Amino acid sequence: MRRDEMMRRLRERKEPWDIAVVGGGATGMGVAVDAAARGLSVALVEAHDFGKGTSSRSTKLVHGGVRYLEQGNIPLVMSALKERGLLRQNAPHLVHDLAFVVPNYSWWEAPFYGIGLKLYDMLAGKYGFGPSRRLSREETLDRLPALDPEGLLGGVVYYDGQFDDSRLLIHLAMTAADLGAALANYCPATGFLRDADGYVNGVRALDTESGEELTIPARIVVNATGVFTDQVRRMENAEAEELVSPSQGIHLVFDRSFLRGETALMVPRTSDGRVLFVIPWHGHALAGTTDTPVEAPSVEPRPFESEIEFILETAGRYFTRQPKRRDVRAVYVGLRPLVKGEGKSSALSRDHVIHVDGSGLLTITGGKWTTYRHMAEDCVDHAITLGRLPDAECATKNLHIHGYREEGIADDRDEHWGVYGSDAEAIRAMAADPVLGARLHPLLPYLAAEVVWAAREEMARTVEDVLARRMRALFLNAIAAEMMAEPVASLLAAELGRGEEWVSKQVREFSALAEQYKVK
Ligand SMILES: Cc1cc2nc3c(=O)[nH]c(=O)nc-3n(C[C@H](O)[C@H](O)[C@H](O)COP(=O)(O)OP(=O)(O)OC[C@H]3O[C@@H](n4cnc5c(N)ncnc54)[C@H](O)[C@@H]3O)c2cc1C
Repeated sequence: MRRDEMMRRLRERKEPWDIAVVGGGATGMGVAVDAAARGLSVALVEAHDFGKGTSSRSTKLVHGGVRYLEQGNIPLVMSALKERGLLRQNAPHLVHDLAFVVPNYSWWEAPFYGIGLKLYDMLAGKYGFGPSRRLSREETLDRLPALDPEGLLGGVVYYDGQFDDSRLLIHLAMTAADLGAALANYCPATGFLRDADGYVNGVRALDTESGEELTIPARIVVNATGVFTDQVRRMENAEAEELVSPSQGIHLVFDRSFLRGETALMVPRTSDGRVLFVIPWHGHALAGTTDTPVEAPSVEPRPFESEIEFILETAGRYFTRQPKRRDVRAVYVGLRPLVKGEGKSSALSRDHVIHVDGSGLLTITGGKWTTYRHMAEDCVDHAITLGRLPDAECATKNLHIHGYREEGIADDRDEHWGVYGSDAEAIRAMAADPVLGARLHPLLPYLAAEVVWAAREEMARTVEDVLARRMRALFLNAIAAEMMAEPVASLLAAELGRGEEWVSKQVREFSALAEQYKVK
């Protein structure tokens, strides 16, 4: 997947694309894969890097959502559990089962959560990941050795899926590119084309690397811009009513010693009525999340102090060792594109919506990472009707995602190489060269070869693209990531043909960004 080839595909096409997608997160990339797999022609433009928005900032769970079960949203849970099963089937290198334990400190919790989680198992049907069961006090401590034993009565274990969100996104992009889609990062949509009757029939975009203005004619334009949905709709109709309410969620990342073992902790009811997870991820422990309504979306949202304190305090209640601010290796923040409604954001719908503006602009928003495939199917079905496109059945239920490897990663849990799936071999071969085999930081497993791979095959354009989304260094350890910026910039410069000035600017910009991922 090379950017110059993608720009060539965009420039050289003379006739309109069947579908042009604005937004390169889970939703837009899902639409691109679905459309391309049906044999439709599709172009996608992303303002920043693929996954720069919410889709790299999730809790990393492929789940039905135990919480939505509590809210009684059975159809959402069932649909998400089915999608969880399909995703593990189609991307076994990226999705693996994870055991979650709900610890019980009151007598009523074991029967209450035990029954709820049995229902969760039941709703998964043939897509189940493993039966939940009650645990004795000893079994609970065996699985979660760091748990506070005082007053602990036992626990309930259940199973869900875990993944690497931005890695899946890159592999979805590669899947769509293999199927003929044209995908451009660093190309914000700046406006729409219209036909004589005023209907939207294409997108104007700006290649921010070359300064070239792009005109992308299309039969249907899909707006998949997450929390930026309304901004993009207003480029077409300044009066468009708001569809989306952004709600912020943060995560704190600690050393793995805070959790120990391979099991995640699930706190089913925090003081603000949410759930809190502490999850093993890429050799670290990730704790989150929060749900704070925010007025306006931003590209790089910042954590509120109260959110940091809330997670430290809530997680601290469950562990023998209290996590402190100085233990936080990274904090990352995401904005949920919740569909607008009344009341608290934690109660707003997690379902997706498809909206058609008077101009024919098709918007898809809401939903979850887990349900991206189903959302895309629904969206492309609508696009086919609306744009009178050739009728073709959805083909993604059994479509292997780029990197598919039957063995998956479930057995060895080698998450570092495992997430590359079938590409791992080629990157490992590059790493046989002593320069490319060098580790970039002693605390993280990433090698120089991965930077070169990201530049050559995965359209990484900046130090941030590499350290935040192709590797997860920035999300795991902000200080280590900052120390990696210089070697990464030099490797990238050699691949992309940039000079010293570019290297210094990249290092400066990345250091400023990394500051926001530190907790002081
Ligand atoms: C804290 C948190 C935890 C979550 N945890 C989970 C989880 O564990 N499991 C799960 O299933 N779901 C989870 N979710 C939900 C999931 O992450 C989101 O539903 C999903 O990522 C939304 O994807 P999206 O593509 O709609 O939005 P985004 O990923 O935000 O993508 C929209 C893209 O549009 C681009 N864009 C904006 N304007 C323009 C323009 N003018 N031109 C071109 N591009 C533009 C943006 O740059 C952005 O990349 C979580 C969400 C949050 C916030």
